[in-house]
Amino acid sequence: MPIDRLWFDPSELLIGGVWRPAPAALPIEDPSTGSEIGLLGRGTAADIDEAVAAAGAARQGDWGRMTAAERGRILARIGQMVLARADDFAVIEATDVGKPLTQAKADALALARYMEFYAGAADKVMGDTIPYLDGYTVYTLREPHGVTGHIVPWNYPMQIVGRSVGAALAMGNACVLKPAEEASLTALAFARIAAEAGLPPGALNVVTGLGEEAGAALSSHPGVHHLSFTGSVAVGRLIQTSAAAHIVPVTLELGGKSPQVVFADADLDTALPFLVNAGIQNAGQTCSASSRILVEQSRYDDVVSRMAERYAALRVGPALLDLDLGPLISARQKEIVEGFLAMAPEGAVAARGTVLADAPKGGHYVAPTLLAGPGPDHPLAQDEIFGPAQVVIPFEDEEEAVAIANGTPYGLVASVWTENGARQMRLAKRLRAGQVFLNNYGAGGGVELPFGGVGKSGHGREKGFEALYGFSVLKTVAARHG
Ligand code: NAD
Repeated sequence: MPIDRLWFDPSELLIGGVWRPAPAALPIEDPSTGSEIGLLGRGTAADIDEAVAAAGAARQGDWGRMTAAERGRILARIGQMVLARADDFAVIEATDVGKPLTQAKADALALARYMEFYAGAADKVMGDTIPYLDGYTVYTLREPHGVTGHIVPWNYPMQIVGRSVGAALAMGNACVLKPAEEASLTALAFARIAAEAGLPPGALNVVTGLGEEAGAALSSHPGVHHLSFTGSVAVGRLIQTSAAAHIVPVTLELGGKSPQVVFADADLDTALPFLVNAGIQNAGQTCSASSRILVEQSRYDDVVSRMAERYAALRVGPALLDLDLGPLISARQKEIVEGFLAMAPEGAVAARGTVLADAPKGGHYVAPTLLAGPGPDHPLAQDEIFGPAQVVIPFEDEEEAVAIANGTPYGLVASVWTENGARQMRLAKRLRAGQVFLNNYGAGGGVELPFGGVGKSGHGREKGFEALYGFSVLKTVAARHG
């Protein structure tokens, strides 16, 4: 395995606390070079069966009996161990996903933060007492679902494993994790560390493999009590449909076409880095990427030219060189993104970054592209490109800004740049999104901030304290004592 920081065999699955070879293997590709760098386990429906059974047994065993404080202590230890190995995690992720090293390191630190946050939160989830009839005491309990299934994508493996598995474990669920076939290495590394930190066998099981095989088996399994999915709308629909067969609740974090709305009075010097970074971070492969920049007409030319200046300075190359952008995840993703860019109307390309001349030919590099010209209904301004491209669109007034901002099927994140406080408050209410940022853009924000979408961006909330409610079931207890 040419990743010198890898200390385990990625062709093994974790089931019931035992690492064992998968029945078959898939190639692991380094997107910076296009070369195969190892073999990943290809788990099957039979492995998912065993993983779900192991999770069920863990719920009945040590894990299920553990107090919330003890669960928190284990999560805290995992967080400390992730922090201690953050550089290893970063190199592994940069190599597996193609993200620049600094961004991979930030993800490793976020994974540790999720563990810290949910470690502290584990024993602070409380019920209510409810005034009721005379002679009664009524209270609520928050209990774990039982076995939770987690299907995660390749773009932010560490962050998404952290937020979803972290919150589920804090509530006492036992997890079965199916990472994305394109990037599973840090999920496996995390599971190794979790076991070393004292997580009991079966509390976290990891079955790597294909979506239509291991993923489909997990989402349709009758022994799973809750499903958490992050990925595409198309697969989200499949997951929700298969979960419906067993009436299993689902959290869906799907894509977005998130706008930043820039009014004429905005502080552009502050806004500019946010406007651009929110589009090119992780080479635009971010569900909460800001791919639409709406600008009040009088500042439109100014914003386009100042963003163009920044775009022209962006450099793209191998992840470990730690430039502004790395490669896209795969040849397929590159083809999809180039297909979108080919739809740009004549003269619409305002600026492009540069792919290093000596970047490996097999890597999946795409120059970041700023587009000015496609109208709000153009596919480039409507569809999630999931690559390094942003469209700048002018608007006349607040009404039109809101109509354009809300004019896609998505609703994940939005931001507003204005010094006018009343306008900030109005737009925070009127924008259709799970998160609204005023004079900043958080691409999902910190671990503390509840995150999720409306419309085709999905439903349910992860991150923050809110996620603990999602990963638990409320029980009402009514005692009649006279
Ligand atoms: P995807 O939806 O195909 O894959 C995400 C996860 O779902 C992976 O673990 C995959 O193995 C699994 N999966 C695939 N088919 C499945 C099935 N039939 N049953 C169960 N699980 C299945 O996403 P992708 O191909 O990795 O990316 C494609 C598009 O998804 C992107 O272009 C982007 O629009 C979107 N995306 C969104 C996010 C996000 O964070 N919201 C993340 C990644 C991708």
